[in-house]
Amino acid sequence: MNKRQKRMLARILLAAALLLALSFTSITGWMRFVLYLVPYLVIGYDILLKAFKGIKNRQVFDENFLMAVATVGAIALALYEQSGDYTEAIAVMLFYQVGEWFQSYAVGKSRRNISDLMDIRPDYANLERDGQLERLDPDEVEIGSVIVVQPGEKVPIDGVVLEGSSSLNTSALTGESLPRDVGEGDEIISGCINMTGLLKIKTTKEFGESTVSKILDLVENASSRKSKSEDFISKFARVYTPAVCYAALALAILPPLVRMLGLGLPADWGTWVYRALTFLVISCPCALVISIPLSFFAGIGGASKAGVLVKGSNYLETLSQTKIVVFDKTGTLTQGVFEVNGIHHSEMENSKLVEYAALAESASSHPISRSLQRAYGREIDRSRVTDIQEISGNGVIAKVDGVSVAVGNGKLMDRLEIPYIPCHSVGTIIHMAIDGKYAGHIVISDIVKPHAKQAIQALKESGIHKTVMLTGDAKRVADQVAETLGLDQVYSELLPAGKVEKVEELLQSRSEKEKLAFVGDGINDAPVLSRADIGIAMGAMGSDAAIEAADVVLMDDDPLKIAKAIKISRKCLRIVYQNIVFAIGVKLLCLALGAFGIANMWLAIFADVGVMILAVLNAIRALFVKNL
Ligand code: ADP
Ligand code: MG
Repeated sequence: MNKRQKRMLARILLAAALLLALSFTSITGWMRFVLYLVPYLVIGYDILLKAFKGIKNRQVFDENFLMAVATVGAIALALYEQSGDYTEAIAVMLFYQVGEWFQSYAVGKSRRNISDLMDIRPDYANLERDGQLERLDPDEVEIGSVIVVQPGEKVPIDGVVLEGSSSLNTSALTGESLPRDVGEGDEIISGCINMTGLLKIKTTKEFGESTVSKILDLVENASSRKSKSEDFISKFARVYTPAVCYAALALAILPPLVRMLGLGLPADWGTWVYRALTFLVISCPCALVISIPLSFFAGIGGASKAGVLVKGSNYLETLSQTKIVVFDKTGTLTQGVFEVNGIHHSEMENSKLVEYAALAESASSHPISRSLQRAYGREIDRSRVTDIQEISGNGVIAKVDGVSVAVGNGKLMDRLEIPYIPCHSVGTIIHMAIDGKYAGHIVISDIVKPHAKQAIQALKESGIHKTVMLTGDAKRVADQVAETLGLDQVYSELLPAGKVEKVEELLQSRSEKEKLAFVGDGINDAPVLSRADIGIAMGAMGSDAAIEAADVVLMDDDPLKIAKAIKISRKCLRIVYQNIVFAIGVKLLCLALGAFGIANMWLAIFADVGVMILAVLNAIRALFVKNL
């Protein structure tokens, strides 16, 4: 509880105690009015002030206005009728404030839960200077600095381990509870907690560009992207509140007029004004206005607890309607870590060929490039490489020691008009040309991710109509992967633009309600990620492009999380609809009862606070999605 909530609670208790004490007295007349005014003002002064400000700023119709008019009206009525029954107005205000208090407590709690679980913001980075550790603001650390992370500390900035080995707790980022072992040369992302050993890390990014900053930005901005349901609610409130105010006014004036002028009966103003005031209390749309954004917020929080970052509630909504899932192959369904299986038709020594390949690839961030560099295994002297040109979906061309080198697939060789020898092994074939002449090929192969098959299975079980794989890789490899995993369709040998075209085709041939998700690893997938209804990126080991272009980021690259994300989104949307139907249903029922004089203000306020509390509790369920 924060200070404001504590003060509010004190006001509630004080007003309740005063009201109770007054109910034992039997004072009448003006003295009674003045005495009852004390608890009323104690509990309601802020609402009255807000309502007054609203009127002054010409933003009249909000719930403060409803509450102020209803309670002031009830008190005025009691004065007019000389009944001395002020209790009702005060109780209405009291319960309204109990509801407000509960709501701010619940919202505060779920926000805190979310930020607890996103407790990844590092406070400092240790820099070693003259044998002393110096604590710096992570913002001040330059790229290429060596930072020291002691056991128990958070990794503040992305980098590569220079010295030491340890196991990392990545659960805040990925939802994965098993620790990850790292050693010299491993890439490391910020936000993990170093558990066992001392690590010296050479930073590869600035703090602002590091994973942890990116994620925090994402989560902080998520609530600004509103879903259709949320839009619906704010539009609804804008029309609804004035509508009920006018309806209440009509209820207060028309029936007495009709009675008086039309039927010749006594007007009975008191009854009808009272009914109109009850109508106003009932009409307060708080439960809706509060519970819908809270449900989405809790859904986003619950998803991030499972290692799935959703960038806005609109994406949560689209995700819940996803029926077609399109995958990229390399790095998405497969690990993107290629092993060299063979080298054929090379005139030079194999190691020399690999050296040329690794050097030419030195600037590429493609998984193939990283694998070739690993196969080379030595430090790369970048000064030997010039004129680097990467052609996505083809390969790279560069000059190594002044000699032109081409590394890529058959398409690249065709493009350079260099005849090449096709390979009969199944695998990804990297053809090489040196100085304009064919120089042999390197056969590399990748393995499917451990959960890939299970992931496709889980998607089908959750009611996905179609799973498709798009890849730039050779047909043979693609077909083999598709068959192992049980995908419905596969398209291979596509350039990045071809992938966009295929996605367009798929978008054409489905109905508007079947949303299409594209899942990629972000390397040259950005156009497809943004073209699909929803882009899901593998975010784990820090592909910036992925995190930026996608709408949903899977923190640990586990394709199984896609089905999980879809289930979470559906649960969240179910909760949202439950709340909408429940709140509007009860509201309409009470309004009808109020208009016919069956419901009094007591029932009205109980219904309102009750619905709100139930709706908020229901919303909070979205935070607990672990066991889906
Ligand atoms: P995927 O769709 O499987 O992720 P890409 O579109 O990234 O594949 O690449 C398709 C093909 O283009 C690769 O299988 C490879 O043959 C070739 N290629 C792309 N980039 C490179 C590179 N940097 N070096 C060598 N070959 C490359
Ligand atoms: Mg790819």
